[in-house]
Amino acid sequence: MSSAAFEHLPTQSETPAEPAPSAQTGLRIGVLALQGDFREHVATLAVLGARPVTVRRPEELDRLDGLVIPGGESTSIDKLARAFGVAEPLKRKISEGFPVYGSCAGMILLADEIADPAQDLSGRPQETFGGLDITVRRNAFGRQRESFETDLDFKDIDQARGPVHAVFIRGPWVERVGDSVEVLAEVDPQHASHTATLGGRSRIVAVRSGNLLATSFHPEVTGERRVHELFIRMIKGEA
Ligand code: GLN
Repeated sequence: MSSAAFEHLPTQSETPAEPAPSAQTGLRIGVLALQGDFREHVATLAVLGARPVTVRRPEELDRLDGLVIPGGESTSIDKLARAFGVAEPLKRKISEGFPVYGSCAGMILLADEIADPAQDLSGRPQETFGGLDITVRRNAFGRQRESFETDLDFKDIDQARGPVHAVFIRGPWVERVGDSVEVLAEVDPQHASHTATLGGRSRIVAVRSGNLLATSFHPEVTGERRVHELFIRMIKGEA
């Protein structure tokens, strides 16, 4: 994940959907494409029969059924979203019940509170769009070289297809959840590859509240489709 993604912005805002293997959902789902691994989310949504639309400008938030905020660097996405005028309308939409799924940096951007926000050169802490009554800790599992993979029991998805294989790359964990927030998955210290950093405790890595869904990990990079499927079911009012 690098800020290089930002230097290669395609000019078109609508990505032609691949022929869907399953029934077309026809849903227009935005993917915030300011920085990070938005292309992987676009590809996953297209395979599931949605119509992914990259979003960089405020007007591109209109006429969407939902939005995905990708993994990347939450400080960069925050700054660019404010610079491009996307942050305020997005916050407003979230408060009105707009469905949003955030992976990794996207989870940080949906959190109402960051335990350890980064500060810019003038000492201003990073901001979030908010909406999820959670406190996240950034890079909680360690830096890039402590990236790890593990299998998770994930609620509300098709269990018959086995556990969710989750890849964590400088991911956050959730330190506090409000009453409205449902925990969907936790990393079990027995099965994580670096039990030392977990301090022997389970750590919350997937949550849902109303129309907001967030994961500390990146289903978009492993071919795991069930998290996006859950998000599509949420948009359709089926989950
Ligand atoms: N550590 C990053 C951040 O703070 C998130 C990493 C990721 O999205 N893979 O935004």
